[in-house]
Parts: sequence; C-alpha cells; structure tokens
Amino acid sequence: MTAYNPKSLKAEEFINDEEILATLDYAEQNKHNLALIDEILAKARPQKTENGCICSGLTHREASVLLACDIPEKTEEIYRIAEEIKLAFYGNRIVMFAPLYLSNYCVNGCLYCPYHMTNKHITRKKLTQEEIRQEVIALQDMGHKRLAIEAGEDPVQNPIEYILESIRTIYGINHKNGAIRRVNVNIAATTVENYRLLKEAGIGTYILFQETYHKKSYLELHPTGPKHDYDYHTEAMDRAMEGGIDDVGLGVLFGLERYKYEFAGLIMHAEHLEAVHGVGPHTISVPRVKHADDIDPDVFDNSIPDEMFAKIIACIRLAVPYTGMIISTRESQQVREQALRLGISQISGASRTSVGGYTEEERPHDSEQFDVSDQRSLDEVVHWLMNNGHIPSFCTACYREGRTGDRFMSLCKNGQILNCCHPNALMTLTEYLVDYASEETRKTGFALIEKELTKIPNEKVRRIAEEHIADIKNSNRRDFRF
Ligand code: SAM
Repeated sequence: MTAYNPKSLKAEEFINDEEILATLDYAEQNKHNLALIDEILAKARPQKTENGCICSGLTHREASVLLACDIPEKTEEIYRIAEEIKLAFYGNRIVMFAPLYLSNYCVNGCLYCPYHMTNKHITRKKLTQEEIRQEVIALQDMGHKRLAIEAGEDPVQNPIEYILESIRTIYGINHKNGAIRRVNVNIAATTVENYRLLKEAGIGTYILFQETYHKKSYLELHPTGPKHDYDYHTEAMDRAMEGGIDDVGLGVLFGLERYKYEFAGLIMHAEHLEAVHGVGPHTISVPRVKHADDIDPDVFDNSIPDEMFAKIIACIRLAVPYTGMIISTRESQQVREQALRLGISQISGASRTSVGGYTEEERPHDSEQFDVSDQRSLDEVVHWLMNNGHIPSFCTACYREGRTGDRFMSLCKNGQILNCCHPNALMTLTEYLVDYASEETRKTGFALIEKELTKIPNEKVRRIAEEHIADIKNSNRRDFRF
C-alpha cells in the first residue's frame, strides 16, 4: 500500500489511487450534505481585500463533493461563483492562441490518437524549417501572436534539436507587422536537461496532458512506446520545473476514464505542484476525446454530456482559482460560449490540427489529429467574443517581462491586473483590429476599446494606454506593453 503524500516526487504517492477512491466515496456520501456544501461554497467565494480579492481555492475532497452534488440550485451557485472568480482574476479578457502541428511522426501506441505508430493510412508529415516559415506567416496574417507547438513523440524524426530549431525559426519571423511573441510547447514528457533547453529557447508554458490519472487504464491506453511509462509521464512537470520552466499546463483527456476519478486526480496534481514548487499550474486544459482518423471516441465508453462538462469546468475554476483555463476548437461554438462564462480564460481560434494545414486553401484531413468542431475564422471568433462581452487579448507580456510562476500569481492576487493585463489586452486588440480585422469587427472593437479604457483605475496608466493605442492606429509602432 502506498501512502498519499502531496509533497512526494513519486507519481503513485502524489496521485494516490487509494486517496482518489476514498475521495470519491466521501463525495458520494456527502453529495446531499447541505451544511458541508454551503461551507465549501463559502470557502470558494472570492473575498475582498484592500487591494482587490483573494481566493483560497478548494482541496480535491471539497471540490469532488461539489462535483458529485446534483442539487440544481447548488449547481447554479457553483456557476455563479465560477463566474465571479473568473471576473475577479481574469476580468472579461480572453487570450487567443493557435496550435501549430510540426510533425505527426510518433512511436507511441496511444489508443485514442490517430498518430499511433500502427496507423498505416494516416499521411505522415514533418515540416521543414521553410514550411514552418510559411505556416507561421499564414498564422501571422490571421493576427495570431501566441502559438502552441505540437508534435508526436519520435526521437529520430522529432528530436529535441528539431523542436529547438523550430522555436528559433518561429521567433525569428516578422512578416509585415506580425510576430509570434510566445511559443508554448506541447511535446512528450522528456528529461530535465531537455526542459532546460526548452526554457533557454524562450518557451512560454510547457503543456502536457496526463490523458488519464488512472494508472491501470493509462497502461492499457498506452500499450507501447515510451509514453507507456505512467510514472515518467506523471512526474514530467516536476522535471520541467527542475529544468527551470515555471509555467506548466495540466490537462486530462476527458472521455477516456470516469470523470470523477480524473477530476480528483487533476486537482491533486495541482495541489502537488503547489506543495512542492510553491506555484500551481499556470494553465489547465479540458480536452475531450474526439473522432479522428482510425479513432472512434465511443469505444472509450466514458464520454461526458455537455452539462457535466460545464460543471467540471466550473468546479476546476473554484478549486484552482488562479490558473488560466483553456478550451480548444475540439468544442463547438455553443459549448465554448457557456464555458467562457464558467472560467475559461484562453481559447484557440481558426485552428488546423493537421501538419502544414495553415498554408492549404481547404482544411486538410489527411494528417489531422482530431476533428475540429469550431471551424470559424479568427475574425469571426474575435467578433463573436466581443459581441458576448469579452475582450479578445493577444497579450504575451507577462513572460516577456519575467512575470512567470509565482510572480504572475502575485500579480493576479494583488489586484494589479486592471492596471496591467487590461491595458495590454486593449493595446494588442488594437493591433489586431488595425492590421487584420474585417471592417465590421474593427468597428465593434474600437467602440469596445473606448468603453474598456475607462475601467483602468490608475490615471497615468490609462493616459499612456490611450497614447499607445493612438500610436498603433497612426503608425507602424507595435508591441507596447506594461
Ligand atoms: N505527443 C505529445 C504527448 O505525448 O504528450 C503531445 C502532443 S498531442 C499532439 C496533444 C494532445 O492531443 C494529446 O496529449 C492528447 O490529449 C490529445 N489528443 C490525442 N488524440 C485525440 C483525440 N482523438 N481527440 C482529442 N484529443 C486528442
């Protein structure tokens, strides 16, 4: 028997099966315990302080009780608190990004992923540096400033040197007024030394989805290849942090295992990072398994309906209040619309999940990783966000100003976001509107910016932001930031 210990560096101790099962049992026993539920909800609510707000978050046990509770009024309350937390720490800003698939060569055997090695009919592609240039120019021409690079695991085709060279290529391209200012990386678990190299290459967040926290299922779902090693995969974030990367992104591929188990594991992982490194996950993603070449999501038998998916998002928001939350184009416009109100702070737009997909006229399917539900253009997504009261933000300032890890979290906690992230969002949105938007989006956007500028509390910051916005409109000067 392994004892639960959030401070341990051993996977089976910080993601402890017995503790998860005891948590699920506790949640089931207490799912109608109104006194306890109200106590947990009160703990989750943001508390006003002199400088702004603080939130204490929830333990995996508390959060699991809320997830299990099926009383409709309590679910409504969870949703209200989730929205309050989102607005307190992230305001109405939504950060925009796009994935860039570098290579779909892979030596793993993941049963849910079309890149698995035994898939003989998917077209295998690996971008050359020149092809990366063309993809990045296409992404810059849409208006993207932040990318997440994606690659299968293949030490021969996609060694770390290839990833590092690709990052250098991406940062080096300035097409017209375009630039990619933050490259996040979603590649397989690797060594401390390789994480150090990624850090030196200037990456933003290192993202790695756990897929499932349930070890037995994990081993079955990853029958072959280096990814089969559950412990190595689960301990990857600790190695990334040891290598100097202090912004890491967690995620579960929902649909593979029972969601209550995954949810408890995910919150325990966040608690572990906080306990060991003093800083929780920078982001949490909530992908759901989708149809893809050679993949039928129904075989996994654990798909979650949209209502439960929304509740999971809201409960994560309450449990880990300072983390950024990401939803991708795996989800439809309708699902994303609700998720945005419940705590999501980052979304992708106009994504192509095929290698080389951005330079093709038509959406190619032959090398796609999964079907994309939200197929709108970036201009359409930006317009839709603004019409729904959000500010699309292309800001990448934090990590470029050294505000990573706990420094970012303290910005969040001490109420300086309105004097920092808010003007940065407005300035980068202005760049988007001037350089890339359609006439209609531009009109809506400029009216929104006028209104939102008045919310900047510090008069000096407001004045500087107004000057920079005028500069962006009247010249080619770009990349102002606080
Ligand atoms: N190869 C890397 C690794 O081993 O972690 C990560 C890159 S992979 C391109 C990104 C993520 O896509 C995976 O971690 C997985 O969660 C997700 N994914 C794979 N197949 C999927 C599917 N059929 N539907 C939705 N998401 C999928």
